[in-house]
Amino acid sequence: MFYTSKLMAKHGINAVFSDRDGGVSEGAFSSLNLGEGLGDASEYVVQNLARLCRASAMPAPHQAKQVHGIQILHCEGDGVSHQRDADILITTHSGVALAVRTADCLPIILVDVEAGVAAAVHAGWRGTVQKVVSIAIDVMCDKGANPAQILASLGPSIASCCFAVNAEVAEALSQSCGVDVRLNQGGKVFADLAKANRHQLLGKGVQASCIEMSPSCTHCSEQPSYFSHRRDCGKTGRQLAMISLS
Ligand SMILES: [Zn+2]
Repeated sequence: MFYTSKLMAKHGINAVFSDRDGGVSEGAFSSLNLGEGLGDASEYVVQNLARLCRASAMPAPHQAKQVHGIQILHCEGDGVSHQRDADILITTHSGVALAVRTADCLPIILVDVEAGVAAAVHAGWRGTVQKVVSIAIDVMCDKGANPAQILASLGPSIASCCFAVNAEVAEALSQSCGVDVRLNQGGKVFADLAKANRHQLLGKGVQASCIEMSPSCTHCSEQPSYFSHRRDCGKTGRQLAMISLS
């Protein structure tokens, strides 16, 4: 159903990443689909979120309309699904949970425990090229965070084993972080999305020891299995990455 970030737990923070098991949805959305408006029954999505929150001891999270951009949503109070476009959710309020939905894109959870600032970031290749995680770090620092204290957990995403891209995308991703994230294999170009984001974080002063990476590829992992937009040709559900600021 989900795994808990060990790095965050060590610092008393609850952050979780769901997989596709343990829900009530059927067919292409089987079973723990957490994305609304994709063709799954709305009541199933509501039930799935309630199950995940109960099992992970999380309050209902704030969510936004994700558009592969760099817009920021500041969150406080009870968690709701906002009808605003944002790929960075941020809070300075304890007891507030933030979540982003993904199905191949990279979910990133950030927190500075001492400063009391948390963020959830949706980083696909378009957001990564626009430096969405670097911008999230800047916004956290505006709220009192210190990059040297920030913990980062990068969740499951499509990994370089499966992320075939055109040369322009691979080049743009490499330029976004100042490191070559291309891999050439069998005449194809693959890109390492997580590596690009990791190097953006390092470039912002986040410590290597404070960055945790999921080993799973959403496209080819079977145990656990994940929703994969590319593998399932767009007809699939979403997993959730979530943090609660204590
Ligand atoms: Zn793979």
